[in-house]
Parts: sequence; C-alpha cells; structure tokens
Amino acid sequence: MPFVPEFKSDPTVHTQALWFIFQEGSLLVQETEDGPRIPRSEDLTPHLFHLEDRQYIGSLDGLPCFAAGWPTSESVPATLEAQGLRGLFWKMADDQVWVAGRANHLVHWSRAHRFCGRCGSATVDKTDERAKRCPDCGLVNYPRVSPAVIVAVLREDRILLARSARFPKAFYSVLAGFVEPGETLEGCVKREIREEVGLRVEKIRYFASQPWPFPDSIMVGFTAQYAGGDIRVDGKEILEAGWFTADDLPQVPPRISIARQLIDWFVANNPSL
Ligand SMILES: [Zn+2]
Repeated sequence: MPFVPEFKSDPTVHTQALWFIFQEGSLLVQETEDGPRIPRSEDLTPHLFHLEDRQYIGSLDGLPCFAAGWPTSESVPATLEAQGLRGLFWKMADDQVWVAGRANHLVHWSRAHRFCGRCGSATVDKTDERAKRCPDCGLVNYPRVSPAVIVAVLREDRILLARSARFPKAFYSVLAGFVEPGETLEGCVKREIREEVGLRVEKIRYFASQPWPFPDSIMVGFTAQYAGGDIRVDGKEILEAGWFTADDLPQVPPRISIARQLIDWFVANNPSL
C-alpha cells in the first residue's frame, strides 16, 4: 500500500508506528544486517518524550508515520545512527526515502516557525489543518514549498550537461535553479540557462515534477531546445558545461532523481542511437 498523507492533530501512537526523526537534516535509523531500518514506537519508548516538532504525517503500508526532530544539543540514542538522507537513496526502499523526505520538509518547517515572523511571539499548531498560528497577531504559516526548475537543453543529438560547484561528487547534470517572485516557470527556465551558461532556449515543454525535500523544494522538470549563443560559465556556481551525445555521457546523477530521468529520457529518445 503506498503512502497516504493525512493530517491529524491528536493521533494515537501505535506501537508499530514508524518514526522519521531528523537531527539537522540527518535521518535517525537503526543499522541492521538488511540495511537501515526506520525505528518504530516500541524501539523508542524511553526517547519519545525527547522528540521535538512531532507531527503525524500519514500512513505507509497501513502503518502510521510520524515526523519529528531530535534536539541538536543532545547525542543520538545508542541504538540509532544519524545518516544523510541523500546517502540513503541507495540503501532504503524508494517509498520510505520519499516519506522521509516529506518528514524532513515538515520538521524543518515546524522548527523554523516556532516564533511568529511578524511579531516574534511563540506560535501554536492549528488543530484543524497543518499550519501554525500566532496567538498575538493572527499570522498563519503553512508549510512552504519552494519551486525550482530543472531543464534538459537539447541541440540536435546532444544534451547540455554541466558540473556544478554544489555537487558532492564530480558528476555532470542538467541545469536547475529557483523560481523568483513574479516569474513564470518558463521565464525561470530562460533566465537560469542564460545566467548559468549564456545560452538562449526555446520550445520549453513540461516533463515531470519531483519533490526535492532539501529542505523544501519541488523540482519542475522541462525540456527545451537550444536557440542561440555560445557556452560561457561563471567558474563559481558552474565550473564546466558542454554538449554530450547519448553514447558518450559523463558520470550522471543517481536514478531516483528527476535529473537522471531527464537524461534517461534523452538517451531513450535520441535519434542517433
Ligand atoms: Zn505574530
């Protein structure tokens, strides 16, 4: 049964409930012979009262799922290990990784909105929806989602790939960037490609989207055609960029990412192969 998102302000804590607990963006898991395991209520009994920003987020395979934060100042329980979420992509089932991502997004939001951004008073959780309300000035904050575009730019039988200074390893990927206030998604595609590599693009088409909970984005994927210009990189954010054919690709991102889905789509639909 897939994950079913749900809001409850006062859920029952079942002994088999799954707890997606984060400390500074790292997920607390139990290391087992079969790989990382998400702890259940019964594994956490002495620790449940330590958890911060607790929220019921829905159910996975019929099991209730909770998101929570582990205090930054406290060491992690001996039975658990803090692991970076990106590193778990290859070790845990995809559906668990995505529920963990949702949990990370919501814990980050809850932690960042303990106080009102307008008047500074302590906020309270609303009981009828997932939101925080300021009891003094009435400001209501909902979990924020920050849209970003990610684009496969094509030129005949080649795809534009770039090496970003932000990448953990020296791999190449399609270009991406955050949407600015007042901008359309298509306008963002044109601006990002122009700013990052100095090219013009046209025929922008929607591809697919993917939540990107690091900590609160959604990646909106597009394809676009090269329309002019020569590649120029700034050497700071983008270190290198170039055109690649399907049979001569550099190291590319892992399969779970929409970046890889765009590259795989290019390879599968490439007329030169
Ligand atoms: Zn306020």
